[in-house]
Amino acid sequence: MPNIPPSLQSLQTALQKANIDLLVVGPTANMRYLLHYLPHADERLCLLLVWSDQARIVTPELNAADFAAHTDLPLYRWVDADGPRRALSDALAGLPARRLAVDGGMRADFLLHLLQVTAPEQVIPAADLLTPLRARKSEAEIEALARAAAQADRAMQAAVDACRPGATEAEVAWAAEAAFRKDGAESVTFTLVASGPNGASPHHNTGSRRLAPGDAVVIDIGASLNGYQSDITRMVFLGDPPPAFRQAYQAVLEANRQARAAVRPGVPAQEIDRTARRVLDEAGYGPYFIHRTGHGLGLEIHEPPWIMEGNTEPLAPGMVFSVEPGVYLPGEFGIRIEDIVAVTETGGRTLTGFSHELVVK
Ligand code: ZN
Ligand code: ZN
Repeated sequence: MPNIPPSLQSLQTALQKANIDLLVVGPTANMRYLLHYLPHADERLCLLLVWSDQARIVTPELNAADFAAHTDLPLYRWVDADGPRRALSDALAGLPARRLAVDGGMRADFLLHLLQVTAPEQVIPAADLLTPLRARKSEAEIEALARAAAQADRAMQAAVDACRPGATEAEVAWAAEAAFRKDGAESVTFTLVASGPNGASPHHNTGSRRLAPGDAVVIDIGASLNGYQSDITRMVFLGDPPPAFRQAYQAVLEANRQARAAVRPGVPAQEIDRTARRVLDEAGYGPYFIHRTGHGLGLEIHEPPWIMEGNTEPLAPGMVFSVEPGVYLPGEFGIRIEDIVAVTETGGRTLTGFSHELVVK
């Protein structure tokens, strides 16, 4: 019998309960979650097929040796000259495929191949079955996220050090990116640096603007370490911060603190959002907090649970998400303070460790 990772076993139990014949994932975070391995992904058809009692892989011959080194599931190989259709048909032969669950992140042309071979009666998103499993991280996953968060702390220090009048946003972003890479990050997911009025756009595209005295600088960075993501935001102020800025900073920091303190099992996800929003409302910044309070993260940078109004799902041990309240004043500045929190048996554990004090340079 092949050696089946626990995540794949749990999924097989879920398939049985949901009465789904076959779940199919492409080379996405879902495959990485189920196999603890992610092959090189390109236009060549590559699928993991999961039934309640077995699993098979369809792979281009080019990736077969790498797959074989990471899993002993049966491989159905194909070469470029033949195309994938026969390997896919062979992998599906004699097994049920009327009720399908399909990875939403799979390429559309992979799905077309699959639908042509299986002609299913019903297709549901694989997320319906995978999200509840992936949302509750194992201890090993939480430690991986803690290591990623510690790496982001170090990259944040490099970005903070690079902030000075005359430096461009891109140069500060590069300091963080280089720090991540030298520190062994698998890939750098984003390095957002928004200076002065640019900070008022939460998704500003880091550019060539030069930092100047009087600028507030939003630094929001994240990378993948051994597959697990980091995400942290801190603020730098160049020069002497005016009272209006200090006041807003204190309000955002208090929103961040109170929201993190509210984390414990059983609390609805929206309560964390409400806690942050209440603090900013009371301080008069309610209209300027223009996004949800947070998002889950794990193998992907944004994944459930969503920390927002309307999400009544109770928090549970093992969930990991960001707490990132912000205030955005158009034409003036933006402020965001972001941490990553893991739900424990009794409360919340903040994985990011960088100081919350405003950095004044
Ligand atoms: Zn972020
Ligand atoms: Zn985030």
